[in-house]
Amino acid sequence: MSSYSFLSKDELAELQKELQAKYAKFKSMNLKLDMSRGKPGSDQLDLCMGMLDVLDSNSILKSQNGLDCRNYGMLDGLPETKELFAELLGLRPEQIIVGGNSSLSLMYDMVARSMTHPTVEGMKPWGKYEKIKFLCPAPGYDRHFAVTEFFGVELVTVPMTPAGPDMDVVEELVSSDETIKGIWCVPKYSNPQGYTYSDETVRRFAALRPAAKDFRIFWDNAYCVHDLYEEGDKLLNIMEECEKLGSEDMVYIFASTSKISFSGAGVAVIGASEHNIARIKKQMTIQTIGYDKINMLRHALYFKNADGVRAHMKKHAAILAPKFQLVDDMFTSHLEGKGIAKWTKPKGGYFIAVDVLPGCAKRVVALCKEAGVIMTSAGATFPYGKDPEDRNIRIAPTYPPMEELKQAAELFCLCVELVSVEKLLA
Ligand code: PLP
Repeated sequence: MSSYSFLSKDELAELQKELQAKYAKFKSMNLKLDMSRGKPGSDQLDLCMGMLDVLDSNSILKSQNGLDCRNYGMLDGLPETKELFAELLGLRPEQIIVGGNSSLSLMYDMVARSMTHPTVEGMKPWGKYEKIKFLCPAPGYDRHFAVTEFFGVELVTVPMTPAGPDMDVVEELVSSDETIKGIWCVPKYSNPQGYTYSDETVRRFAALRPAAKDFRIFWDNAYCVHDLYEEGDKLLNIMEECEKLGSEDMVYIFASTSKISFSGAGVAVIGASEHNIARIKKQMTIQTIGYDKINMLRHALYFKNADGVRAHMKKHAAILAPKFQLVDDMFTSHLEGKGIAKWTKPKGGYFIAVDVLPGCAKRVVALCKEAGVIMTSAGATFPYGKDPEDRNIRIAPTYPPMEELKQAAELFCLCVELVSVEKLLA
């Protein structure tokens, strides 16, 4: 099929009629499908049920350091769970705090603490500055943007590239504007494109010389072990790069097992320099006496080590890779060569990003909804929910079963075609 832009008005009008007829057929099917949520399917959650059997009422709930996990103590988490994450993230156990069930809430707490208490000794808390800003590589993760927006921080869009955020823009802004206090990053299998930052990007992050001495990189490594194929993307270790340059205090690393064990019932971690860990612990001790150590123990006993986690993630990949493949196949057969959509082909993570013709994303999502398929809202991947070009749509293929996913992807392609023809006819 040749690009739609070569079709005459008459040909486009003819095509529009055909597509409208197909759309009417879809509507009559009364579908009720959801492709909006980056959640694991229940078959993925089934993979981890054995974790519930590693402890029972006869178990000795003692950590390897002899601590009774049923009682208070160990603000920064069990040594064995720290070791597990240290191995996974390429950090030292002393650089880890194991928190509660959600990395997003650890990020929220980190921003909240920075608003009220100095990030660097002797400086003002972020909240005491008249105005502060955060860099938001976009398309990006809406909940990151929402956290900083909630605290009244101005969101500044930075363009994303397949190698990560546009580092020329990041360097220029960060080195010249001391009201910029941080940047959100999803360095591996980014949400929503599935891009992994290149080695050069990671090195340039480590080498940043911010105008604000209390500038911090929020490095959300949510998809660190979420490869779909044997050959996954490789992410350079930012902490090692920072340590070479003495900039290790500039980065906060986050991760969780939300998409490894159970979403909302896993464990989450902060990785940071020993200096930052000491400061965070001092502040955290006001907030909690300690997180859920029984769950930490369960995770350490079940997975044993990083290889245990990687073996488990292969089982996830066996379920997820065919879903990503299905969506890519559908997009290829319905959209390729028509000049109306571009999409990413990630090797891991939870999402695919589609760019449609400018001004078309909202209408595509609305037409999908009218025919019974819920997509992530158009615009959600940009700061303040506003996509300046109205063209990016996030696809979340993980949750629906294959048959539903096929129908949803087919309808999505049809809506993209229909809205593109409408636009070209206008
Ligand atoms: N970070 C990213 C990039 C995500 O995509 C998600 C969930 O989709 C989260 C964090 C949420 O993590 P958690 O469940 O640990 O709060």
